Amino acid sequence: MIAGHFGLAAATKAKAPEVPLWSLMLATQWLDVVFVPLFLAGVERIEPVAGMKPNAYGAGIIHADYTHSLVGAVVLALLFGGVAGLRYGRRSGTVLGLVAFSHWLLDLPMHRADMPILPGGAGDLPRLGFGLWRSPAASAILELAFVVTGAVIYWRAARRVAGADPAMVRRAHRCGAAVLVVGLLTLALNLAGA
Ligand SMILES: [Zn+2]
Repeated sequence: MIAGHFGLAAATKAKAPEVPLWSLMLATQWLDVVFVPLFLAGVERIEPVAGMKPNAYGAGIIHADYTHSLVGAVVLALLFGGVAGLRYGRRSGTVLGLVAFSHWLLDLPMHRADMPILPGGAGDLPRLGFGLWRSPAASAILELAFVVTGAVIYWRAARRVAGADPAMVRRAHRCGAAVLVVGLLTLALNLAGA
């Protein structure tokens, strides 16, 4: 899952309005953010699925054996939540740590049984992932549903808080639209194989 993570960020913002929206959006993608330098260094890689276009949406066996291992994800989430906690306080840090870990949970249905339990795939334990990416259409619909639902939940909560203050209402609209645009753009780029 890639775009869909943003939906969870928006829905969380509705429940924890004190946490900055940008930090929630960064937290949902934190595992993939750390994946990028490891990917560039060749430590983590994406193996194309035979018979599918290499960059096509969902067409990869992802060897993200550190960032997307269960234990690795817990460590990265603790790190993110811990640092955020120093800056924004304990409650926000906890929320951001949980949101960072939610990335692993939301990736679980999508990945093709390529997510190890221990970092580096140590111990030859079974790899996890239910492989919804085998159906790019179903995956894209699920991601779209997450993005739209999250944006709507956020938008409704923000409007409620904004009350009759026109500046706050405008802000709520802008933040809701930002989540929607970022989510839809991410999904569109994925579907285009970018
Ligand atoms: Zn991921």
